[in-house]
Amino acid sequence: MNVLVSGASMAGLSAAYWFAHLGHRVTVVERSDGLRPGGAPIDVRGRALGTAQRMGILQRIDDEKVVVSQPAPVLDAKGMQVATLDLRWFANETDDDIEISRDRLNNILLGLIPKEVKFRFEVSIASLVDDQDGQGGVDVALTDGSQGRYDLVVGADGLHSNVRKLAFGPEKNYVRHFGYYVALLDLPKEREWSRGMLNVPGLKISVRNAGDGPQAMMIAASPEIDYDHRDLAAHRKIIDGFLSRVDAWQVPAIRAAFMDPAAKGFYFDSVSQTHMPSWTQGNVAVIGDAGHCAALLSGMGTTLAMVSAETLARTWSDCNGDMSAASPLYHESLRPYVAQCQAFAHEGAPIMVPMTQEALDQRNASFRSCAEKSAASLAATAVEGSDRVRA
Ligand SMILES: Cc1cc2nc3c(=O)[nH]c(=O)nc-3n(C[C@H](O)[C@H](O)[C@H](O)COP(=O)(O)OP(=O)(O)OC[C@H]3O[C@@H](n4cnc5c(N)ncnc54)[C@H](O)[C@@H]3O)c2cc1C
Repeated sequence: MNVLVSGASMAGLSAAYWFAHLGHRVTVVERSDGLRPGGAPIDVRGRALGTAQRMGILQRIDDEKVVVSQPAPVLDAKGMQVATLDLRWFANETDDDIEISRDRLNNILLGLIPKEVKFRFEVSIASLVDDQDGQGGVDVALTDGSQGRYDLVVGADGLHSNVRKLAFGPEKNYVRHFGYYVALLDLPKEREWSRGMLNVPGLKISVRNAGDGPQAMMIAASPEIDYDHRDLAAHRKIIDGFLSRVDAWQVPAIRAAFMDPAAKGFYFDSVSQTHMPSWTQGNVAVIGDAGHCAALLSGMGTTLAMVSAETLARTWSDCNGDMSAASPLYHESLRPYVAQCQAFAHEGAPIMVPMTQEALDQRNASFRSCAEKSAASLAATAVEGSDRVRA
């Protein structure tokens, strides 16, 4: 059967692999001129570890993981160190979870896709007309002027999904602002950057080495802002407004780096969740952030992208392409997991971006207490170890 996938990132590449693996002819359209680079390291965890194992890439992902090593200083508004953050306290859901850069994971996924899968970059779906009976097909017109008929169209085109808009209706019906904006940037390598995380109420600015050089991340609490999410100049202006609140540490230099239109690894978006009563509509389905974005603060976006791609491909194939039969099975398998992953975002927010000075002070005190406990447990292990040697 013929499958059209919109979007070539974690969800789209995983879907391309699974549908091709299960014997279907797959075409992928991607709006950008290649895989979109950039992003902070992301996590492959929970059910995605099984998916990666079945794809035969678990070891490769592990080989290329980012190793979280040194604790980083936590700074106050004046740039003074007030605590230490060791990401190992939070990084893993289980010991098996893997953190890897977005680019490396995308390249691993791309390398897995058979050559029969057709990729069409700088192309997206202009219109689609679905037979709507769950067994027919979808007539699709692409932005390059070509047309085709597909048994299934998969929207894997992210938070601002085009397929969701065309088949299910406007973004505002499904995407809920989670209260934050995120910006990322690869910092210029000409100068030295020190690692660390500076917080003021409602704003976090951090620098870390994500394995491929220093990277800045900003997370800012804010009500929803009305802007064109494809207008990069508008993004920079919003970021400038957030960063202008802090004049200490390396923040002025980070702010200047964000304002450079030629900067590498630039990414800006709202931290939002997608909530949909159904992820299928006739012969169209949405997966990954398009269908059920869990929000960056959950750490579960990539996991859900990989898991939803496999689950959709398997249930649809098992039902011989009859979406009316596959859809209930798909929702039954995925819905509870999505709910659980989306709930994680509520836990991440107060740790990363406390909203008041009091909450910030409490968070820093808890970091200090974690550091003390971890030092005490290391000391105890050392004593136990030396006892054992003596015995
Ligand atoms: C550049 C970038 C950086 C990111 N950085 C982080 C990060 O640091 N931390 C984090 O947790 N999450 C990050 N994310 C989001 C993260 O990749 C997703 O939450 C998660 O991996 C789910 O992936 P996805 O494939 O569903 O969506 P996405 O990774 O958002 O991919 C969607 C894909 O669809 C393409 N697309 C969009 N519109 C169209 C269209 N009309 N036609 C065809 N293709 C289209 C996009 O170009 C993109 O390649 C980032 C996403 C991007 C695109």
